[in-house]
Amino acid sequence: MKEIKELVEQAEVDSSEIQEFKNKISKMSLVEQDSYFYNMSEGNLNEEDGINCPICKNKGKISFVENGYEKVRNCECMNKRRMYYRFIETGISKDQFKRYTLSNYDTTIEWQRYALDKAMNYLTDLTKNERAYWFYIGGNSGTGKTHLCTGIIAKLLNSNFSVKYMVWNTEIPSLISQRKSFYQEDQDVYRHRVKELKECQVLYIDDFLQLDTETKESLSVAYEIINSRYTDDSKITIISSEVTQKELYEFSKALCGRIIEKSKRGDYVISVNEEMSTNYRMKKGE
Ligand SMILES: [Zn+2]
Repeated sequence: MKEIKELVEQAEVDSSEIQEFKNKISKMSLVEQDSYFYNMSEGNLNEEDGINCPICKNKGKISFVENGYEKVRNCECMNKRRMYYRFIETGISKDQFKRYTLSNYDTTIEWQRYALDKAMNYLTDLTKNERAYWFYIGGNSGTGKTHLCTGIIAKLLNSNFSVKYMVWNTEIPSLISQRKSFYQEDQDVYRHRVKELKECQVLYIDDFLQLDTETKESLSVAYEIINSRYTDDSKITIISSEVTQKELYEFSKALCGRIIEKSKRGDYVISVNEEMSTNYRMKKGE
């Protein structure tokens, strides 16, 4: 910022604009000058988040003088930037957020309308009643479960919730091997990762449990995470799974019971059953 100041002072062409500028500067105290030149300088926050702010020139901060001292406050654009990072930090791709919104969720079939209604009621319940309800949608693949959950997550991020995302099948093998490892380092990684999953405000688990491949170890990890979140009234858990409520009950009563209890006693547990999804596929011509 000193550079601009020096350039102006050294300017050989004494145009009226520069003269005016020099006059303006000369009326300022040194502190005011520093503040002024800071506000004129360019930042580069936009390079990362694509948000262009003419007010702070992408520094995220605005300088001002109070009682003779230079002070700095956050620019308004920081709210937008923080929002951007909240979306990025979930680990869900930008593309997924763009493709799967609640407003473009297909509701041609009756159960889809039912599922969308549930999702909308769920969001209203969460934000208006401030109760940390859970949401569970189970059923066959290709029924838009990920679409619906991603739409819910975007709404939560926009309401300032912070979210962690976990794809069950992708993460569970490494979690199990770290947990069983003889090396302390591996076990530390496991504990750290599971702590994050237990403690984040909103946890979204995609593709939770696969009946044919689940092992005792993975069920035990599932229980560790779900039970910890169950005992904390401030945690929200959103789950999509191929496993319906009935199958989950037969598989693990402990997990099923906890999930149902948290989902407003089952009000926010949706099971897309065989018949529903067959109809869906036939109408789609699959
Ligand atoms: Zn700004």
